[in-house]
Amino acid sequence: MTIELFRDDSYLKENSVTISEVIPEGLIFDKTIFYPEGGGQPGDQGILIVGKKKTNIIGTKYINNKLVHLVDDVEGLKKNDTVTVELDWPRRFSHMQVHTSLHLLCSIIPYPVTGGSIGDGRGRLDFDLEIKPDKEKILNGLNKLIDEDHIVSISSITDDELDQNPDLVRTMSVKPPRGSGTIRMIKIGDNVDYQPCGGTHVKKTSEIKKVKSVKIENKGRMNKRIIINF
Ligand SMILES: [Zn+2]
Repeated sequence: MTIELFRDDSYLKENSVTISEVIPEGLIFDKTIFYPEGGGQPGDQGILIVGKKKTNIIGTKYINNKLVHLVDDVEGLKKNDTVTVELDWPRRFSHMQVHTSLHLLCSIIPYPVTGGSIGDGRGRLDFDLEIKPDKEKILNGLNKLIDEDHIVSISSITDDELDQNPDLVRTMSVKPPRGSGTIRMIKIGDNVDYQPCGGTHVKKTSEIKKVKSVKIENKGRMNKRIIINF
């Protein structure tokens, strides 16, 4: 099992790792700072450095429950090699900003989330909601929460505690990961947002860029898509 360093510290940008397995699609490491595609957030990209040779890591995702760093060419790389990896930090930091802003959007629109997606400088959530909300209110609400500089903190609860408080789950399309006995929780401010999430976030909301525009699309009578651009 790869140790997922990005869960406790999403600001790690490079580190030294040991290859634990080479598969045709890429490499599995003993530990990683690369976030694997999931929960609407794209997998990380970056580079792998061995001596003077640099190889692109073009994506990161789970394949058969293994956290795989996708590389075009695995030739010359073998188990137990120690290599240096560097994250494409501007891209990842943008994902962290957009991801955290979607938590803020959840606090402004208190309805169940049915889907979502995170991009570079852009994100969206779909809500189980009949009435189209006011986009100016959303824009101003998001920028107010960003300005207020709320702390984003990580904690955990047990599976049982989550079962007793099912309302904590906001996203219907992504089930919180179970099995380890505890669920990772993300809290923003004292009472802005609190929900299970495995993604990468900024440490405080003032690190998020100001939201430039909000767009709302009707995706069915009970489905409104809210797109935010930075
Ligand atoms: Zn999150």
